[in-house]
Amino acid sequence: MPSPKKIVLLGATGSIGENTCRVVAKHPDKLELLAIAGRYRWRKLVDIARQFNVPHVAIYDEACCEEAQQSGLFPAETQFHCGLQGLIDVSVLAEAKLVVPAIVGTLALKPTLAALEHGKDIALASKEILVLAGKFVMATAKKHGSMMLPLDSEHNAIFQCLQGEREIDVDRLILTASGGPFRDFTREQMTGITKEMALKHPNWSMGPKITIDSSTMANKGLELIEARWLFDMPAERIDVTIHPQSIVHSMVQYVDGSIIAQLSPPIMTFAIQHTLLYPERGAGTDATLDFSQLMSLDFRPPCTEQFPCLRLAREAAVAGGIATGAFNASNEVAVEAFVADKIGYLDIPRVIEKTLESIANRDPDNLDELLAADAEARNIAAEKVIALGGTVAQ
Ligand code: NDP
Ligand code: MG
Repeated sequence: MPSPKKIVLLGATGSIGENTCRVVAKHPDKLELLAIAGRYRWRKLVDIARQFNVPHVAIYDEACCEEAQQSGLFPAETQFHCGLQGLIDVSVLAEAKLVVPAIVGTLALKPTLAALEHGKDIALASKEILVLAGKFVMATAKKHGSMMLPLDSEHNAIFQCLQGEREIDVDRLILTASGGPFRDFTREQMTGITKEMALKHPNWSMGPKITIDSSTMANKGLELIEARWLFDMPAERIDVTIHPQSIVHSMVQYVDGSIIAQLSPPIMTFAIQHTLLYPERGAGTDATLDFSQLMSLDFRPPCTEQFPCLRLAREAAVAGGIATGAFNASNEVAVEAFVADKIGYLDIPRVIEKTLESIANRDPDNLDELLAADAEARNIAAEKVIALGGTVAQ
């Protein structure tokens, strides 16, 4: 019997991290955790390290890393890796086959690039890194022959729908979106949205940032850009449809008009397991759909007037260059300010729009230029937050 695939899980303490652990626990003969990484919640890493006998633990926050090492709570043979370099070191471990970047934001960019340069395959949850640096990440994967397996449920669905087909026969990609908790709100009702309301997703259980992004549809905007890079598809050929049940995870339309869809319940273990076991399949971690029960599937077009983030993301995707990174950076700054009660809910798209208007678009030649543009966008967005009446911690 072949030995289990060794996995590095970045963001083990988060929502995707937890679901990834459930998939690994379901398939101990096929999957093994070689390294786990987090930022602050190191006590949660203790439980995972003990349950799965994980030899390597990386902790981004240096103080937490120190505390964890001295706690005596981890198995005695645990090897610790601290800071960003620690995350990079575990991502390139010789035995590692697959790295799962599941860290919120763009921090996993350097560990992911390092893993690709060492020929590791990637099961990508951290969509923000493609939005920021899709051109560089995809070129690195290609150069080193590494696989970029989409773990985001929509992209995983598209990946499954493309199997066995010719690229030339693909007409368009159709991303589904639940529409979030405010899909039926009028513009007037939207003025009263609080963070408590935005943090409750009707279908999915996810981390706080992506839950708010789903409510503004910025998440679908990020996913449109993510799809543009993963499948080398211009934004003009990527559609979005509102599908409130979140059962059809996305679709591919072929030139003959046939549309292929992937269906499963709105639980992340389906997409996660597909990427971890790929190209094999195994028994599901969670129960699937039951067609002996009544089920409806509805679809309708999104209203971009109500959800300007989707329009802004599409415009950024078409513009290319640093615009998509600026969309992501300004969204992160705006969401943080909203969660800290510094700006209102409807200010989130305003901050993004004003940032995109203020930044001069350009096509960076290297990663340093790109990261400088990301920092510039964050500064501009912080100014826009202040202009809207909020304050931003420096
Ligand atoms: P959570 O907020 O639940 O978890 C975030 C994780 O990232 C935690 O493990 C956190 O560690 C870790 N983290 C944050 N910053 C750092 C850092 N600097 N170094 C190391 N670890 C860090 O987020 P989700 O699991 O919801 O989302 C993770 C990613 O997956 C995001 O990019 C999201 O867009 C994407 N995604 C999520 C989906 C979902 O269903 N949740 C679906 C599809 C994509 P700690 O807890 O220790 O601070
Ligand atoms: Mg998704």
